Amino acid sequence: MTKTRDRMWRWLVLVAVPIAGATVAQSPTHLRLMILVGAGVTWLLLRSTERNRWTAELAKAESATQARHAAFAQHSSDVVTVVDGTNVIRYQSPSVTRVFGYAKDEMLGMNLRDLLHPEDRRRVFGMIVAAQDEGRETALVECRVKHADGSWRYAETAVSSKLDDPDVCGVILNTRDVSERKSLEEALAHQAFHDSLTKLANRALLKDRIDHALARAVRRGRALAVMLLDLDGFKAVNDSLGHDAGDELLICVATRLDECIRPTDTAARLGGDEFAVLVEDLASPGDYAIVATRMLESLQAPFHVHGKEVFVRGSIGIAMCGEGDNTADELLRNADVAMYMAKAEGKNRFELFNPSMHSAMLRRLDTEAELRRAVDRHEFVLHYQPTVVLDTGRIAGVEALVRWNHPERGLIPPIEFIPIAEETGLIVPLGEWVLREACAQAQQWHGEHPKDPPLMMSVNLSMRQLQQENIVGTVSEVLAETGLAAECLTLEITESAVMNDHVTTIVRLNQLKALGVRIAVDDFGTGYSSLSYLRRFPIDVLKIDRSFVDGVTDGSQKRALLRTIVELGRALNLETVAEGIELPEELQQLRSLECELGQGFYFARPLEASVVAELLAQGALSPSSAVVDLVEGRPTEIW
Ligand code: C2E
Ligand code: MG
Ligand code: MG
Repeated sequence: MTKTRDRMWRWLVLVAVPIAGATVAQSPTHLRLMILVGAGVTWLLLRSTERNRWTAELAKAESATQARHAAFAQHSSDVVTVVDGTNVIRYQSPSVTRVFGYAKDEMLGMNLRDLLHPEDRRRVFGMIVAAQDEGRETALVECRVKHADGSWRYAETAVSSKLDDPDVCGVILNTRDVSERKSLEEALAHQAFHDSLTKLANRALLKDRIDHALARAVRRGRALAVMLLDLDGFKAVNDSLGHDAGDELLICVATRLDECIRPTDTAARLGGDEFAVLVEDLASPGDYAIVATRMLESLQAPFHVHGKEVFVRGSIGIAMCGEGDNTADELLRNADVAMYMAKAEGKNRFELFNPSMHSAMLRRLDTEAELRRAVDRHEFVLHYQPTVVLDTGRIAGVEALVRWNHPERGLIPPIEFIPIAEETGLIVPLGEWVLREACAQAQQWHGEHPKDPPLMMSVNLSMRQLQQENIVGTVSEVLAETGLAAECLTLEITESAVMNDHVTTIVRLNQLKALGVRIAVDDFGTGYSSLSYLRRFPIDVLKIDRSFVDGVTDGSQKRALLRTIVELGRALNLETVAEGIELPEELQQLRSLECELGQGFYFARPLEASVVAELLAQGALSPSSAVVDLVEGRPTEIW
């Protein structure tokens, strides 16, 4: 509309001015002059109209730009802040409400430092100074900004100084909230350095922490310890209750371990059922023992997984940082060797690394390889230890105890190879051999020395064997092959093995009982406090661990304990066998407590089959029996 009017005006002037000039002209020269003047006026008029129009359009465009800038500032993901030379906020873009939750203008007059995380202030102010010095926009700086709700948000800020610009007179900070990106980064970093199941540190993070801790320990002259913990009994839970239960158990173990250490220490899971702990700043180097004991104790109470009560124990290997330049790898390796030794020494214990362990471990590895060969070559013999009726001295049965008849080292006791056989699984073929040999021997003695009641044969069964699906088939096969009556065979299972894995154990033991064999709980009293299992398991015999018999004559407390166990057995209608009777006084005490049966060096050590045959020919252990030779200098006039 305005454009059309402008155009009309222009034409009107262009036509009217020359015509008016021509009308008033009095000569041709005059006319030419008038036309020229008219054209000039017209040109001037047109120029001024055009300029007005441009000016108006420019003003309009500028106000549009300002509106656009305002809209940008309002809706942009960036927050624009202008601070003066003393870092007081002089301008704040409205987007701050959306990004950091502050009301419009709420931040004006505040000092920037109050919005920055204390750890980030130096960095941001350093950038501001750099921007002022260089007079250009600086690189991005990462910092944490306080949100109006009090939380810290991760932000990225670009700083440019406009202190010299009269329109700004300040330093401009362009800030963007990068919390989401940051938390994703953190999640990824966490994943890379933590065990996804237990949320503990993983091997990579542990190694990094150990390296840093080593540097600190050297500087401060304080001791640090790396402890490796391997769970005993985890596999049984995993195999019997399933992997979900296994996972749940690992999480519970992780929680308990974490509670054993200070927040500045590190607990890690290295994989499977192997955990590690880095303990720093030990007040005295010997303090590692306190932490290790606490860790073992933390595993004592039963774990509740999938509604079941399960038990695990641990073996801990410890390496301390020494004089030399230890590295994380070296400490972990040493702790591993020590852990291996702790397992070999009988589990549920800790061992501190010392260099001689390396050779001990090599020896053990040798033993492992040799044991494998020995199983193939049947380099084992059985010795038999009589179980006697305490009142009469009659041999009620024998326990088959395996020995390794090593071609060079001679007879090796079971404590030196049974744990290795259990760990490697060699116990399965070895145990089957023991069972077959013992049953065949018992059947032979039944034929040669028939007794009434018949001689009982006890065979130790390891947890690993009990876990075998075909164990029931194997036992029934051996009984059928050897002809031994099932009721003459007692299978001994240690208390800790019974407790390890309720579900499988109950099922298997019931199946074995159905064959007609008897079940004994071996080493009773050394395992767990919960006695409720005694009712739930199909048990016939309690073999009271020798630690209860040892020293029973020394004090009334031991005697009271022994009496409780004997009475418990009686109340549950179980046969009780006291293990490890070495002294006549111990025998007297057990008799007075009315314990039925006993076993121990006082009567006989484990004997070769031929010696047992002689004893069986005599019928009962008496002063004239082989016992006199076996227990030197001990009074044997007891029956
Ligand atoms: P265990 O089944 O508790 O066997 C009793 C152990 O106590 C035997 O040790 C025996 O020699 C020892 N002992 C008996 N009376 C006395 C005593 O008066 N004083 C002392 N100090 N010790 C006594 P051994 O033969 O060295 O066997 C140790 C363990 O090895 C056995 O403990 C058993 O757990 C295991 N073992 C032995 N043979 C086998 C086997 O064929 N299979 C399995 N799985 N384990 C076996
Ligand atoms: Mg036994
Ligand atoms: Mg025992």
